[in-house]
Amino acid sequence: TENSGDDLDDHINVVLRVRPANGQERDRKDQLVTKFHGEGRVEVDHVSVNRSFVYNVVFEPEALQEDVFDHSGVKKLIDMSINGYACTAFAFGQTGSGKTHTMTGPPQQFEGGNHPESDMQGVIQRSFRYLVQQLGQVTGNKTIKASYLEIYNEQVIDLLNTNHRRYLNVRWSKNKGFYVENLFIVECETVDDLMAVLEEGMRNRQTGSHGLNEFSSRSHSMLTLTVDTEQVDPDDENLYLTKRGKLTFVDLAGSEKVKDSGSSAEMLIESNNINRSLLVLGNCISSLGDPKKRQGHIPYRDSKLTKLLADSLGGNGVTLMIACVTPSAYHVHETTNTLRYASRAKRI
Ligand code: ADP
Ligand code: MG
Repeated sequence: TENSGDDLDDHINVVLRVRPANGQERDRKDQLVTKFHGEGRVEVDHVSVNRSFVYNVVFEPEALQEDVFDHSGVKKLIDMSINGYACTAFAFGQTGSGKTHTMTGPPQQFEGGNHPESDMQGVIQRSFRYLVQQLGQVTGNKTIKASYLEIYNEQVIDLLNTNHRRYLNVRWSKNKGFYVENLFIVECETVDDLMAVLEEGMRNRQTGSHGLNEFSSRSHSMLTLTVDTEQVDPDDENLYLTKRGKLTFVDLAGSEKVKDSGSSAEMLIESNNINRSLLVLGNCISSLGDPKKRQGHIPYRDSKLTKLLADSLGGNGVTLMIACVTPSAYHVHETTNTLRYASRAKRI
């Protein structure tokens, strides 16, 4: 057993979601290899591997979108962003494991307008509602600024400004830390404003020059909300404190090894770059999860993804990793990889 949950340090929490078997897996009568033992413990039981893991929470295939939002710790993340922390929730796992389903729900959500109360909405739409609701309690000024980008092949594409499709630079400044230069930023007040940003970005993601599946399985998408508030100083009710927090949602590229498809040089560079971001993220998380290494050098600078997540991963930031796997024996190898990767975040 690799212990991932008992040492619940608040910087990085890891939850697991196992999706239901799909039609193909049921038709093939795939053996179901994930066994659930409660209290965050999951076992992979297969002739090729038998291993158990523990996470902060495990969502079984029956879990609803609502359950994942209510019990994964996202609400706490949102509360912390209002209090000035940099917070990130990201979905990790192989293509087809349910990352996008978890973060944004099925694509029908965006056809023919939005359905604000739909049961199938993902973590992101639910977070919009919760954030706006919680900000309603703040008496001082408050603003939300949204941006939405994609990292593909280690290049940053603005999903809200595709008029001049070009790659944006990641820079560093003393005040802002790592940031994306010339990124389009939209000020949002209402849930509808935020939904419009999400829809616009998803639409632009889908009209990329590559086929949708191919493209989205190889790119990391990142929706960032900067939350500025003025809140009464608890020590002096005549004083307002200004706080800036950040809330980032990341739908990571598929974690599977990119298959060698008679690869052109370009394809190879691409797969190296994609794997680089995930590899570096894994290295950063694993160092941060180790109390001895946490104070040392964390290799944020080695990829665009980790540069942009640096403030959430380290310092006073908070990160929630939602690991996604399938229950099927057909994917047992990738499932085990995902579970191990997720465990690194919590290793003692
Ligand atoms: P990924 O983004 O990891 O590649 P998707 O979220 O696109 O995977 O999921 C793959 C397919 O499985 C989609 O058709 C999706 O609707 C379905 N799916 C994923 N998770 C669930 C779930 N928890 N319940 C029902 N269907 C799911
Ligand atoms: Mg996806």
